[in-house]
Amino acid sequence: MTARIQAPTPTAIRRMAAVLKRGGLVAVPSETVYGLAAHALDAKACQRIFKAKGRPPTDPLIVHVHSLAAAAAVADLTPEARALGRAFWPGPLTLVLKKKEIVPDVVTSGLDSVAVRIPRHRVFRDLLRVSGLPLAAPSANPFGYISPTTAEHVLHSLGDRIEHILDGGACDVGVESTIVDLRNPAKPCVLRPGKITADEIAAVLGVPVTVRRGRSHPGKTGKKRRSTAQRAPGQLERHYSPATRLRWVKAIASEEVLTSGRRVAYLFVVRPADPRLAALGGRVAWLSESGDATEAARMLFSRLRGLDQGGYREIRVERLPDDPAYAVIADRLNRAAARGR
Ligand code: AMP
Ligand code: MG
Repeated sequence: MTARIQAPTPTAIRRMAAVLKRGGLVAVPSETVYGLAAHALDAKACQRIFKAKGRPPTDPLIVHVHSLAAAAAVADLTPEARALGRAFWPGPLTLVLKKKEIVPDVVTSGLDSVAVRIPRHRVFRDLLRVSGLPLAAPSANPFGYISPTTAEHVLHSLGDRIEHILDGGACDVGVESTIVDLRNPAKPCVLRPGKITADEIAAVLGVPVTVRRGRSHPGKTGKKRRSTAQRAPGQLERHYSPATRLRWVKAIASEEVLTSGRRVAYLFVVRPADPRLAALGGRVAWLSESGDATEAARMLFSRLRGLDQGGYREIRVERLPDDPAYAVIADRLNRAAARGR
């Protein structure tokens, strides 16, 4: 099976909606990363997602819906959920809520909660509207590997396991949604950091929001981090990982790069000022032109992929600015650099 990348014409959207209704898989663009979608109420279809990704069944799927009414069909929408929905949907926020009976166990890994999101990307919204289905969709990549932010990324790493990829251009946010656990409305908790921050969520809810510890701070080199005992399903230490070894370094001096040999690659936060480095080509990359954290998040997975394909022995990553705007990038890079699973 070789996947075909399709422009999101009205005809293609109708055909992909039909594929989903029959229980098939379609890779779809979203504002966060590309997703691999299936009919969320069709257990067999959802099992195909796990098979295609090599994803363990203990890692539950996010259900994407078109509207609040459609969200209410799969989850108990508490007043807190509605308030966050009004503030941030459609957008990169996922809520973990008590599930409705109709959601199959395969989607929630047997939990009595379900993760729900209303995405913002036009192509994803068209597909949700035309199909009229809730769509379960994790990132469209082999489990544990770098998330895809273009249709070509999906083709490259899942192209022989799926048939259909809808092209919606490069993802605007570039990192996965913020996941907030609202099962206990008095104690909301961010399970996965994303573009929408705990502070923004707390401002809407009017109560403090905790952030599950472990990976939300810029990488401190050398220190062994505690593994979390009570981790939520799927919150694995190692994730978003290139095949090449990733190593944090405090700062990168030009001389080091120039003398390191061709098998070491470097990822800078900002384009290095030294023109000799840019001239080295593929083994030197940067997340942004001038330090904008939004741009850096958008470019992160694409840059990691590019470096991973260069056949380097090691990728050295420059320490991130100590700025909350970089917390989501720190989370992903810390997990990408983690050794064990
Ligand atoms: P992704 O791997 O990007 O699809 O992200 C899905 C993540 O959402 C999972 O790995 C879980 O951590 C989290 N998640 C999904 N459903 C639930 C749930 N019912 N309860 C708690 N966390 C969930
Ligand atoms: Mg993923």
